[in-house]
Amino acid sequence: MDFPFYDAPNTAAIICCHIIDDGKPVLYVSHDEDDGMWQFLCGSAHETAEARLVSLKEVFDLDPSVGDLKDMPCGYCAERKTENDNWIVKKR
Ligand SMILES: [Zn+2]
Repeated sequence: MDFPFYDAPNTAAIICCHIIDDGKPVLYVSHDEDDGMWQFLCGSAHETAEARLVSLKEVFDLDPSVGDLKDMPCGYCAERKTENDNWIVKKR
């Protein structure tokens, strides 16, 4: 499968431990305004210690549906209720 993001596959991204360690679905994605960092979270509240640094490619391999958000600009976030719902993108 082609890697859809404009960022390089080895771009650093944040993912929460619930997704990478516990297999929870990605339900919240943020593309940060200040540094362009992508964050992939399970939807609950998080402590800093629950964040893991991975590559954008690792996230995409884990859940290719995040590729739908490749056009989401910095300063926006996307949410969905379950992994089967469509992403709802909004300005932060
Ligand atoms: Zn989480």
